Amino acid sequence: MPVEPSGIYVGLGSNLGLDAKIPRDILHEALVLLSQTGDSVTHLSSFWSTKAWPPNLSKPDYVNAVCRVEPQDQDPLALLQRCQEIEARMNRVRSPDDRWANRTLDLDIIDYNGIVSADCSVITLPHPRLAERDFVLLPLLEIAPNWRHPVTGIAGTDLLATLQESENLNNCVRLD
Ligand code: ADP
Ligand code: MG
Repeated sequence: MPVEPSGIYVGLGSNLGLDAKIPRDILHEALVLLSQTGDSVTHLSSFWSTKAWPPNLSKPDYVNAVCRVEPQDQDPLALLQRCQEIEARMNRVRSPDDRWANRTLDLDIIDYNGIVSADCSVITLPHPRLAERDFVLLPLLEIAPNWRHPVTGIAGTDLLATLQESENLNNCVRLD
């Protein structure tokens, strides 16, 4: 059931520094770069600290946030490409063999105006794993409390409640 257009939301995450920058600095810089390249950032959640997954590998904690953007065009793939260019500028290294690799910067398109696309490795909308991720839902609901999943129409608050009843949390806590 499609729902009315809901905005364009990008998730940000980092668990590795770069030069003198700690993950928080990298997220701030990513937001500046998004704006400088023409995608206005209109809303920004708090920063959240998240345990890396899976827990037994003792990887550094993540810093996560979600922002709402007014992009320079109406092309989801073009926005994803600009996000990937920003990841590359932050020395993001992709490790195809390691799904859980540490990363300086991860930018994911969570929802693009409620568009529902076919499942595709290049871009899938909405983001296919958003409902399993407290580190996406918590910051998203801060800036879009009435957000609903574009495919199911289920309220984000209900998705979060379901997730919180499960054992699959990343123990995401708000940073000051
Ligand atoms: P992760 O799933 O940990 O974010 P990556 O950032 O390496 O992993 O992304 C893997 C691939 O997912 C990218 O090559 C990208 O093309 C694809 N992808 C599909 N849908 C999306 C989306 N909505 N947002 C971001 N990347 C996506
Ligand atoms: Mg990604």
